[in-house]
Formats: sequence, C-alpha cells, structure tokens
Amino acid sequence: MEMAAIAVPGPARVFLLDIEGTTTPITFVKDILFPFIRENLEEYLSAHWEEDECKQDVHLLKKQAEEDLRQNKACPVHAVDQTVHTDEEKAIREVVDSVLWQMAADRKSTALKQLQGHMWRAAYVTGKIKGEVYPDVVPAVRRWRRGGLKVFIYSSGSVEAQKLLFGYSVEGDLLDLFDGHFDTNIGAKVESKSYENIAERIGCQPEEIMFLTDVTREAKAAEDAGVNVIMVVRPGNTELTEEERSHYRVVTSFNQLELIGNV
Ligand SMILES: [Mg+2]
Repeated sequence: MEMAAIAVPGPARVFLLDIEGTTTPITFVKDILFPFIRENLEEYLSAHWEEDECKQDVHLLKKQAEEDLRQNKACPVHAVDQTVHTDEEKAIREVVDSVLWQMAADRKSTALKQLQGHMWRAAYVTGKIKGEVYPDVVPAVRRWRRGGLKVFIYSSGSVEAQKLLFGYSVEGDLLDLFDGHFDTNIGAKVESKSYENIAERIGCQPEEIMFLTDVTREAKAAEDAGVNVIMVVRPGNTELTEEERSHYRVVTSFNQLELIGNV
C-alpha cells in the first residue's frame, strides 16, 4: 500500500467524492441496507398498510408485477389459504413475495426503489440504520473546506439516499460538509459527459475538479473529461491491476491527500 502523501494540484478547487468504496465501506449497501429491507418488509407493510404513501408504493408494485407477468417474468404467486388468513394478511404476503423476488433478481424497478427508499428513510430517521463513513473522511473534508475547497458528492444512489446516509451517519449529521450532491440524473458515472455536466453545474472547469473513486471505469470517464482523478483503495474494494496502480494516483485514506499550492 502506498502511504506517501499526495499533493493535490494547484488548480483543483473542488473535490468530487464517490460514496461506496470511497467514503463508505462497499459492504454497507450489501450487508446493511438490503438485508434491512428483507428482514423488516413484512413488519413495515403491516405498520403502514393504511397510509397513503404505502398504498401508492403497493399500487406501483402491483403495476410492476402485472407488467412482469405480461412479459412472462412470472413472479411467484403465493397460494395462501384464504380461510385461514384475512385478505390484508394475504395481500401483504403477496407484496412481500413480489419484493423479495425482485430483490433476488437484482431488479432496479422504480416501484422497488421507491418502497426501499421509504423504508430506509424511516429506518434512518428512527436510528435503526446509521450511514457508515470511514473515520478519515470527516476530518479530511473539514480540512479541505477550511482550505477554501468546495466538496460535492457524486453517487449512483439517489440524492435523497445520499442525504439520508450523511444526514444520519455514525458521526451525526454531516450534510453541512458538502456543497451539493449529484446522482445519475446528471448522467452515468462511466460516461465522460456526466463530468462535463457536473463542472458546468458547479460553474468551474473540469481541470479544477479532483474526483475520488474506487472504480477505474469511472476514473477513466472523468479523466477523459479533463477531471483529475485519485483512486481510493479501501478494504473489500476491487483490486487494482498493476497497470492501473502505475497509471493512477492511489490513496488508502483521505489523510494522504495534502493540499499544496491551493490554500
Ligand atoms: Mg464506488
């Protein structure tokens, strides 16, 4: 592992941070967020079944299931004996089955994402889930901000999900650390144009942005747009090849980034 400090080039005045594998363990989504849905789905639906938001979520899921059936992606039809269960229990079980099936198939449907988003929001707000952030992140970001740099987030997770993660983190509400958030509404992370769009939105040149990520395809796209890139190696991240290691500047902690010439 490289431990030498890396000087951030003078023109860089904006840090753009990826989340998973960069500020946050890559396992957070897989080991915390998704299992939470699977384990709490039935209870959540029972508790919120009569609320408008939940009704809309269920309605959207039903439309998705109908669409899946039309395309022969047969969702499992739960054969519950109606003489034993009330209609509501049966309906909830069917929604649970449908959601678990979609999640097992790694579906990214709007219906699924909407329900998951509502469940995570409730979990964050009530303290059942806290957003994970590596311990070096907060002190480093504060240092950069004191140095006059702006700091933005760019993640595939929705801006709403990003704000929950940082707003209800293990280190409290961290939203004041960031000047703004971008998600895939600005474009995919593996497309160069997205980084041009971000520079334009921030109101700076691509050369003034320093992008930190763990994914080389994202790094390549950013580089092609003229953005500076630093690869972040964290436990559990995909290993970099020898070639990637020699091509990119690599850090294992945000502490390794020193601001030189721009403060
Ligand atoms: Mg990442």
